[in-house]
Parts: sequence; C-alpha cells; structure tokens
Amino acid sequence: MAPIGSIIFALFSLPFLVASQDQPLSWDDDQFYECLLHEPTIFPRQLGSLFYTQSAQSYWPILQSTLRNRRFNSSDASKPRYIITPHNSDHIRGAVMCSKRFNLDLRVRSGGHDYEGLSYLDRRGPFVLLDLGQFRKIDVNVTDKTAWVEAGASLGEVYYNIANKSGTLAFPSGLCRSVGVGGHISGGGQGTLMRKYGLAADNVIDALIVKANSTLLDRKGMGEDVFLGHTRRWGCKFWRRCLMETQISPCSS
Ligand SMILES: Cc1cc2nc3c(=O)[nH]c(=O)nc-3n(C[C@H](O)[C@H](O)[C@H](O)COP(=O)(O)OP(=O)(O)OC[C@H]3O[C@@H](n4cnc5c(N)ncnc54)[C@H](O)[C@@H]3O)c2cc1C
Repeated sequence: MAPIGSIIFALFSLPFLVASQDQPLSWDDDQFYECLLHEPTIFPRQLGSLFYTQSAQSYWPILQSTLRNRRFNSSDASKPRYIITPHNSDHIRGAVMCSKRFNLDLRVRSGGHDYEGLSYLDRRGPFVLLDLGQFRKIDVNVTDKTAWVEAGASLGEVYYNIANKSGTLAFPSGLCRSVGVGGHISGGGQGTLMRKYGLAADNVIDALIVKANSTLLDRKGMGEDVFLGHTRRWGCKFWRRCLMETQISPCSS
C-alpha cells in the first residue's frame, strides 16, 4: 500500500437549532423568499433551482430523493416547510441567515442515511431542509495526495474519483457507497482501513464551517478547539459545519 494523502473538501453543516424556542415563530413563504432574494451577493435573482415550498412541483421528488428511511416518508411525519438546495457555500450562508431571521429550525442533509431521520425530520415545528444533493464536487490531487470533497458527495463517488486517478490511493471511510460524506464524517466514519488509518474524521485536515451568524470559517479562522470539536468529537452542535478538509490514507495497489 502506498500512502495517499488527500484533502477532502466537504461542505458540512451540522444539524443545529437555529430557532430559539422562547420566541414566537413568525414566517411567511413570500417573506422568506424575499429574504433570500435580498441577499443579491448570495442568491441569484432566480431561485427556481434553489428554493422549494411544499406547493412546488419539485418539492416531493427532491425530498424523497435521498430520504433513505422509508418509515419517515409517511404522511404523519414532519416535513420541511422549505427545501433549499445550495450549489455553493454562499447559498448556505443565505439559508442560515434567513432561517435565523425567521426563527426557523434548519436541518442539514447530505446522503440522507440518518437512522432516525434527523436530517429531514423535526418534531418541534416548521423547519428548513438544507439539502446538499447538488453540493458534491470532488477534486483529487494525486501529487499532493489530497482531495477536496463537498459534503453532499457520496462515499462511492469519493472512492470512484480517487480510483480514477490512482490505483494506490484511498480514503479510509465506510462501506456503503450511498452514505453521504457530510453525515458520515460528522459521525466519525468507520471502514475497512480503520485499524491502520483510524476513522474518516481522523483524516480531516481542514474544514469550512458556516456559523449561525453566517460567517464562513476555515480551520485557521475557527481555531484549533473548534476544528477539533468538529472532527474529533462527534456530535458538536454549536456550530454550523460547512466545509471540511481531510487527509486520505494510503492503501496498497
Ligand atoms: C446502509 C448503511 C450503511 C452504513 N455503513 C456505514 C459504515 O460502513 N461505516 C460507518 O461508519 N457508518 C455507516 N453507516 C452510518 C452512516 O455513516 C451514518 O448514518 C451517517 O450519519 C449517514 O450520513 P448521510 O450524510 O448519508 O446521512 P444524513 O441523513 O444526510 O445525515 C446524517 C446526520 O448528519 C448530519 N449531517 C448531514 N450532512 C452534514 C454536514 N454537511 N455537516 C454536518 N452534519 C451533517 C445530518 O443533519 C444528520 O443528523 C451506514 C448507514 C447506513 C444506513
């Protein structure tokens, strides 16, 4: 096995509570839409491919596209008030900002494999689903032995892209190809290379996060404590994790 050092660039957003429970909800479809539109540097004038209300034609196909636990597809399961499908980190910043302004919870979904449906269910009230299905670019650098992976990519896509460029490099993570990078690394991520290289999260070497105030921070900006909280202590819920940089471990040819 030859070491593959890869940087995985992933857009990560932890499912954290935006809304404060002691404040009354005050939202409206048009107002929320306007909020997104009034961030011209963040959202384009046309939100057609980014923002969906329950009456939108694409709402259900998008919701169900990665709703892996079919138990939660029932009519009595809580459904998102809005779905936002960001294409870049600015869209995520806008979603965070407007969800906060309208006191709405924000759920984040990458691969949709959460056993409890935490990425698309919320029993506390209206919420926004930030669906990272469009956020899945992967850029493998064989020379540096690094890769940038957006959080919406699946593990299978990561493996495929690495294998396309090298027969000796690999990233140590889980077995199921459709599991999302975002949720997987957030939870640690075990796989067949674990004994030698540790968990997937152990190999994260940088990350971008979006804070609740919509600031985008890399490892340096967030500081080591926060970075390690995201990558070495699973379940940190105080920050919106947006972007991660990981190290990929060696494997034999
Ligand atoms: C069939 C199957 C096989 C599995 N195999 C393995 C395995 O081999 N090894 C292993 O370790 N685990 C395995 N798991 C567990 C899997 O890693 C977790 O369920 C993981 O959380 C799923 O991530 P996801 O992105 O697909 O799910 P999601 O439902 O999208 O997300 C899961 C959780 O992570 C949060 N989240 C999603 N995206 C982000 C993000 N960008 N930033 C921060 N938080 C985010 C969500 O809000 C949710 O709480 C398996 C699960 C299944 C269902």
